[in-house]
Amino acid sequence: MNRDNKSRAIEDLKLEVIPRKAHGISRKGISENALKVLYRLHKAGYEAYLVGGGVRDLLLGRDPKDFDIATNATPDEVRKLFRNCRLVGRRFRLAHILFGRDVIEVATFRGHHTDPKKSKHTARSEDGMLLRDNVYGSIDEDAQRRDFTVNALYYNIADFSIRDYAGGVDDLNNRIIRLIGDPETRYREDPVRMLRAVRFAVKLDMTINPATAAPIETLAPLLQEIPSARMFEESLKLLQAGQGLATYKMLREYHLFEQLFPAVAAHFTEEHTSQTEQMLEQVLSSTDKRIANSQRINPAFLFAAMLWYPVVTRAEEMTFESGLSYYDAFMVAANDILDEQVKTVAIPRRFTAMVREIWQLQMRMTRRTGARAFKLLDESKFRAAFDLLEMRGAVEGGDTEVLGAWWRDFQRADQGGRQKMVRAINKVSNTRKPRRRKQAPRRRKPQSNSSS
Ligand code: ATP
Ligand code: MG
Repeated sequence: MNRDNKSRAIEDLKLEVIPRKAHGISRKGISENALKVLYRLHKAGYEAYLVGGGVRDLLLGRDPKDFDIATNATPDEVRKLFRNCRLVGRRFRLAHILFGRDVIEVATFRGHHTDPKKSKHTARSEDGMLLRDNVYGSIDEDAQRRDFTVNALYYNIADFSIRDYAGGVDDLNNRIIRLIGDPETRYREDPVRMLRAVRFAVKLDMTINPATAAPIETLAPLLQEIPSARMFEESLKLLQAGQGLATYKMLREYHLFEQLFPAVAAHFTEEHTSQTEQMLEQVLSSTDKRIANSQRINPAFLFAAMLWYPVVTRAEEMTFESGLSYYDAFMVAANDILDEQVKTVAIPRRFTAMVREIWQLQMRMTRRTGARAFKLLDESKFRAAFDLLEMRGAVEGGDTEVLGAWWRDFQRADQGGRQKMVRAINKVSNTRKPRRRKQAPRRRKPQSNSSS
């Protein structure tokens, strides 16, 4: 316990082997497919271990999300053993063994990067980032390359013992997230480890050890170097894995959130009360609830909600500055914000297209006369658009809330009831003075959908 403020130096790593009778992991907790892979590797004479989240979560009495395997067999050797095998990854070459939809990831032990003969298998950027990491080594070396002590636990299929290289069992018991080695070096090698520290702290309800936490705020901007496609994957693991709200809050504490979503963070306030911040609370807590109830979730909805007020604000500024109609300004603003966003987090096009649809429906939902309301119900993204409208109602109150309530009733009503509701609106709008549409001078044309 007296080591708690320290990081764990690589030189200090001391292997502890915990025999089967002294730990609680039984093969019953491990998926059949993972066991098949472990046994096949073992029978072929290779070392084979369950490692990472599988061991960690079983020791915590939790259900592991997936089972990762480490071995001294090279990816090519693994492929020769399994017909259902696919090699993936450039930065980090791995074998995937496929069992229908279940994928077991098999990684060959990573080695050190100091041997110049191996330099073609490894590469570092100027700021120390590992661009390629395909030097193979022993299990001891592999343990030193893992991120956190609690992730460097290996379950040995040969004798069912656990190998603990970095005091991970102690840290599990004390609920501490601690990087292996010098934190700054490890973050520079791979800045995503900063996001992982937060993710695990929230998911496992643990505390980030002070030495591991200290450099994060300063090094957060290194995340800009990470390919935006990887950042997209990470952002889903952070926000759409069941504890999005708590994770968002901790990401903010460490100034990591703004690295992922700068356009959203531009609306942050000290009191956490801006419309954007209220919307984040709404959408993340609703996402968490849906996951808890095993309901479907869609990343497009999350991004549409997170970026809604930034787009609206931009559109309002633009109407004011350029004299564009609000509709045109909105389309330009939507393009601008999405173009900016995909630079840091590469939201795939199929999702940005949905985000736009959900946004456009916000405008269409205000116009309900004639057959319009009936037509909107048939839109494939109507339900998502309605959910966003209700969240906006909770944030904005007023007309938006009333509109949301109208749409809720409209959906619940039968055909006759719906017609009545629309007739009531037609009446109101007929009694209003006919408005002349003002044609604003067009100075800026909406761009073509450059990112959808
Ligand atoms: P979960 O799958 O529950 O999110 P996990 O710990 O299994 O958690 P994975 O991303 O599946 O996380 O990675 C498996 C293991 O690979 C980790 O436990 C860790 O040992 C190692 N690892 C993953 N990413 C990194 C990284 N960026 N740096 C160092 N080691 C890593
Ligand atoms: Mg895993």
